[in-house]
Amino acid sequence: MTASFTSPLAEAMSEDLLARFLRYVRIDTQSRPDRERSPSTPGQLDLSRLLVEELHELGIADAELDEHGYVYATLPATVADAPTIGLIAHVDTSADAPGTGVAPLVHRAYDGGVIGLPREGTRLDPAVMPRLADMVGHDLVTSSGDTLLGADDKAGVAAIMAAVRHLATHPELPRPTLRIAFTPDEEIGHGATLFDIPRFGARCAYTVDGSRRGELQDESFSAIEVRVHVKGVGIHPGYATGKMVSALRVAAQMVAELPSDRLTPETASGREGFIHPTLFSGTAERAEVRWIVRDFDEGLLQSHVELLREVTDRVAGRHPGAEVEFEAIRQYRNMRAYLEDDPDVVTAAEEAIRAEGIEPLRAPIRGGTDGSRLSEMGLPTPNIFDGGYEYHSVREFASLQDMAASAAVIVRLAEAWTRR
Ligand SMILES: [Zn+2]
Repeated sequence: MTASFTSPLAEAMSEDLLARFLRYVRIDTQSRPDRERSPSTPGQLDLSRLLVEELHELGIADAELDEHGYVYATLPATVADAPTIGLIAHVDTSADAPGTGVAPLVHRAYDGGVIGLPREGTRLDPAVMPRLADMVGHDLVTSSGDTLLGADDKAGVAAIMAAVRHLATHPELPRPTLRIAFTPDEEIGHGATLFDIPRFGARCAYTVDGSRRGELQDESFSAIEVRVHVKGVGIHPGYATGKMVSALRVAAQMVAELPSDRLTPETASGREGFIHPTLFSGTAERAEVRWIVRDFDEGLLQSHVELLREVTDRVAGRHPGAEVEFEAIRQYRNMRAYLEDDPDVVTAAEEAIRAEGIEPLRAPIRGGTDGSRLSEMGLPTPNIFDGGYEYHSVREFASLQDMAASAAVIVRLAEAWTRR
C-alpha cells in the first residue's frame, strides 16, 4: 500500500516534482575541491541552464544565470506589502561518492525490506539504516548502486521548482515576492562566496537542504580549516644517516599524537565537535596535512585549534631540521546568533511546517550550509528539510512523500509571510 501524502497539496505537486527530480539527478554536477573558477565543474552549468529554461517556461521572465554560475529568479507577489523572501538550493553534488552516470530507480510503495540495487552489490538494509523503517509505503528513489543519488541537494532544487510552479499557476494563493537562487559549489564550501546578496534583495531566505521530514535547522557548526605544511630535508636514503628529516614522518607523528578516542567524527555526536584530517600528502621533502575543525561553540572551536597547534609545535620541536607552517582558515560560523536576532524567520518556518501537519524537528546541523555563511553575511537563512537521506553515499535515497511535503511547506511558508 502506498503511504499517504502529508496533504492533498503535497500529493498534487508530487508527480511534477518526481519528474523534475529524475531529470536533475541524471546531470553530473559533482563539484571539485581546489576550484580555479566558479563553478568548479562545467556540469553544474548544464543543470543551471536547464533550470533557467524551466523557470522561463513557468513565465518567470527574469530568470538568469550569472557569470559565476548562480541562477536568480523572481516570482512576483500576489499580495501587497509583504517582505521579499528567498528560497535557495545548491546544484552541485558531493565528491565523496561517484557522481557520474547516475541512473535513478523508483521503488513504488516500499515494503520495509532490504532493497538490493543492481550495481556493485549495494543494499539498503533497514537493519543498518533505521530511517528506512519510517518509509514503509513511501515511493523511494535510489541510484543504481554505483553512484550517489544527488538528492543532496537536487531534492531541494526539485521541491523549490515544484512549489514555484504550483504558486505560479495558482495566483489566487497569497504569496510575497519570492526570490529564488540556485547556487554552485556548496559542497566545497563556496556556495555563498559569490552570492550577490544586494541583488537577491530578500529580507531573509531558506535553504532547502536538510534531510528528514520536519527538519528545521537554525544552528550549524562553526568551522575552521587548518593546513600544516612541513618542509623536511630530502636526501638519498642510502646516505641519509643523521641528515634526512622526513617531512612525511613528521606529518604522520602530528596525526598520530592527536586524540583518536574523542574529538573525532567517528566518536563525537550531538553537540560535540571534532578535529578531522581530510588530506595527507607529500614526500620526504615536503608534506601537507589538512584538517577540518568543527564545533557549535566558538570558544571550544578555538580550543580545538589550539590543541592542534600545540601538537604541531611539540612534534616540530622534536625535529629541528623541519620547517613547519600552521595556517588556520575560517570557513563559516554557527548561524544561530544571527537568527536569534530575527526570530520571525524561524517562527514563520515552524508555522509552515505545522500547517502541513508535521511537527518541526529542531536539531543542530553537524555541518554547514550556504545559510551558515549567508547569515553571517547579513541574509538570515535557516535550513529546511528536502526528503533526501544517507547523503554523500551510494546508499543515498529520497522519499517522494517527504520531498512533496517539503514542496508543500514552501507553499505554506509563502503564505505565512503574507500574514507578517
Ligand atoms: Zn547539501
